Amino acid sequence: MKNYGVNELRKMFLDFFEGKGHLVMKSFSLVPHNDNSLLLINAGMAPLKPYFTGQEIPPCNRMATCQKCIRTGDIENIGKTARHGTFFEMLGNFSFGDYFKKEAIAWSWEFLTEVVGLDADRLYPSVYLEDDEAYEIWNKEIGVPKDKIFRFGKEDNFWEHGSGPCGPCSEIYYDRGEKYGCGKPDCTVGCDCDRYIEIWNNVFTQFNGDGKGNYELLENKNIDTGMGLERLAAAVQDVDSIFDVDTIHALRTKVCEFADKEYKKEYKDDVSIRIVTDHIRSATFMISDGIMPSNEGRGYVLRRIIRRASRHGRLLGIEDMFLSKLSETVIESSKDGYPELFEKKDFIFNVLTQEETKFNKTIDQGLTILNDMCDEMKKEGKTELSGEYAFKLHDTYGFPLDLTKEILEEKNLHVDEEGFLSAMNVQKEKARGARKETNYMGADATVYEEIDVEITSKFVGYDNLTHISKITALTTEDSLAEALTDGQIGTIFVEETPFYATMGGQAADVGFISVEGGKFKVEDTIKLSGGKIGHIGIVIEGMFKIGDRAVLTVDEKSRTNTCKNHSATHLLQKALRTVLGSHVEQAGSFVTNDRLRFDFSHFSAMTGEEISRVEKIVNDEIAAGLLVDTQEMSIEEAKKTGAMALFGEKYGATVRVVRMGDFSTELCGGTHVNNTHSISAFKIISEAGIAAGVRRIEALTGNGVFAYYQELEDMLEQAAKIVKTNPASLIEKLEHMMSDSKVMQSEIESLKSKAAKEALGDVMDQIKLVKGVKLLATKVNGIEMNGLRELGDQLKEKIGEGVVVIISVVDEKVNLIAMATEQAVKKGAHAGNLIKGISGLVGGSGGGRPNMAQAGGKNPNGAEAALIEAANILENQL
Ligand code: ATP
Ligand code: MG
Repeated sequence: MKNYGVNELRKMFLDFFEGKGHLVMKSFSLVPHNDNSLLLINAGMAPLKPYFTGQEIPPCNRMATCQKCIRTGDIENIGKTARHGTFFEMLGNFSFGDYFKKEAIAWSWEFLTEVVGLDADRLYPSVYLEDDEAYEIWNKEIGVPKDKIFRFGKEDNFWEHGSGPCGPCSEIYYDRGEKYGCGKPDCTVGCDCDRYIEIWNNVFTQFNGDGKGNYELLENKNIDTGMGLERLAAAVQDVDSIFDVDTIHALRTKVCEFADKEYKKEYKDDVSIRIVTDHIRSATFMISDGIMPSNEGRGYVLRRIIRRASRHGRLLGIEDMFLSKLSETVIESSKDGYPELFEKKDFIFNVLTQEETKFNKTIDQGLTILNDMCDEMKKEGKTELSGEYAFKLHDTYGFPLDLTKEILEEKNLHVDEEGFLSAMNVQKEKARGARKETNYMGADATVYEEIDVEITSKFVGYDNLTHISKITALTTEDSLAEALTDGQIGTIFVEETPFYATMGGQAADVGFISVEGGKFKVEDTIKLSGGKIGHIGIVIEGMFKIGDRAVLTVDEKSRTNTCKNHSATHLLQKALRTVLGSHVEQAGSFVTNDRLRFDFSHFSAMTGEEISRVEKIVNDEIAAGLLVDTQEMSIEEAKKTGAMALFGEKYGATVRVVRMGDFSTELCGGTHVNNTHSISAFKIISEAGIAAGVRRIEALTGNGVFAYYQELEDMLEQAAKIVKTNPASLIEKLEHMMSDSKVMQSEIESLKSKAAKEALGDVMDQIKLVKGVKLLATKVNGIEMNGLRELGDQLKEKIGEGVVVIISVVDEKVNLIAMATEQAVKKGAHAGNLIKGISGLVGGSGGGRPNMAQAGGKNPNGAEAALIEAANILENQL
């Protein structure tokens, strides 16, 4: 047998099946397309599912692929068995209602024994217990002796996944020789050890199962096979494991080089070496398919794999960053089959390096803490880490449970996993029970009640936007925390903060809090009872611990704009009192960085003129450049200044008075501009009633006003473009168009009546005499009820005396009308009864007065019969 390389074997397989009429396709992405049932592609058939279920038509009835696969379910096996990787390549040939068992079995045998040259004596097929057909093919047609064919039960040899297409399989095992065996007397095909390894699985999809054990034979039977490329290579190259085949061997050697370790010296080291070797392959391929490390879904699978690799690297004594360097070797040996690896190599290196850096930080922190915990356990003579501790590591320090487990295992210790789960549940319960009051990020407001009452925060941000202070308390979304790490959502408390918390109608500041190596994005700032100010947000990088010195930085642009809007609100209030009268009282206000909202008492809608006057006053005071002055004083003193206090508001012993020149004086705790000039412009964009006697104004300032006008201008341009003119001529153009349209409207009207009259000419010769009374019964198309009445009147006039019946068919609908002149009625004609008698024939019902009646129906096919029946009824009436 020739010693073929992995890249050669891949090609040999695909060429072989191409020769058997198969369409060879490139591997699909590891990320499933339109398939929510699967996190990652785990078999060659997975991306072809729509062809098997018949949802889509395959480009060819025979296909072959070499598919990248990830099996996280095998993660515990990695490094411990010879045949499992989390990443591997699966060779597969597929038949969609084309060839079946006979060919599939024969070709797999031909490929293994003739193309690759594996020793036929060492190959053992297995079939499903009841699949005599496959058994016979193996025995009679291929010539495998009966004692070498194994029959296995459903568990091993029946492929089924819920309901849908399913069927028996036939696996091919390769005997790698006694030296790989477990030595047990009953060791044979099917044993869990590494002597007989399954290399190929042929699935015969011949049934449709209902998921309850009932099977129906499929009309179009399919073939789905899968052979691990690495396992095939291990057999062909006659090496110990998939980690010894040519391509992976090169990578494994690199790992040993970095670790300065020799392979096959220490079992424990070897396991770590194999884990790193496998995981870096998985990670490299996953990133090349666009997966990014994250805390959920496939992103989490990737994160876990990278972190595990990094951790085992450390166990091997690798101190420097090494993942991206190893990834280079992966790319080098696989880029022929997967050019995307090479194309995206810089990106892959980047992602790996970033994740490795992040994890190193977490590990350093967590390890120190875990070591302390272990020391404590040793002192107390315990071998089990409490679930509570393990949970704390996981929850507070982002240290994964599986890592805790592994580290403990190395020290012959273990963790109380049940305790871990119950600690997690307790926390979840607590969170659920407390979820009555939540802030917008979903955090339980009640978690804040657990903070030490001694802890308070001082606002120091009227004039400063940055400040350094000490972290005094931290919470996650639902519990107190000693630290917050990467990616966690939580709340930070400090002694002194420049962040303004939502209060007095002014929205909170946003910005950043940083510590050495850490950054937290503040998305909201809240004022809590007990004088605490909480900064809610997310840790972008690093770790935040109680006691850390933090630099707090308010987003300047957002604060500046909020100040403009808040100061403008004071000017607005005064202007409203000036224009509308002193009954105007503030009923509420809300100021953010992009607009202001002011609610006030007033009993009618403001006129356009009033709005303009208010705007002008405010803009004049802006232009006047009034100094804004703030002072703290007692409430009595404040009242003497004539400050406008809010009705029903509680004030403390001292209050803050905000004055803008001599124009406005208000009690206010908010932040303001230093001079009204900075507001630059003010514009009311809406005025509306929100309750009886309460109006609401929304307005813009500064750049908001300019952006608003810009938008209006763009709209104007667009409108002008639509009617093919420029904004300056838009009004003139629209006036023209309106008068043109009026002319056209009247032309349409006259055309319509002309058309109706023309129709009249044709119906005059349809008049019949029924017992001396003229009857005009006719059918028209497309005339609605209004037009029908008009037409009826015209016909009536035209015939002088008599009865008119018109049926109009409009799409699937029928309109009927009957009219009788005075004379006809005198002679006994009754339009109402006539309609009653014929409307049933067109699928409707109706009636009316003797001289006039109408109805609607749903059956146009009955129109002719209805016209004939009209004559009969009239005859009986007379
Ligand atoms: P095993 O019992 O050895 O885990 P399996 O029954 O899970 O194998 P299948 O689901 O039938 O395997 O997959 C088809 C083929 O894919 C197998 O015959 C094997 O060659 C290969 N294969 C499966 N899992 C892995 C893995 N984790 N690493 C490498 N190759 C694998
Ligand atoms: Mg398996």
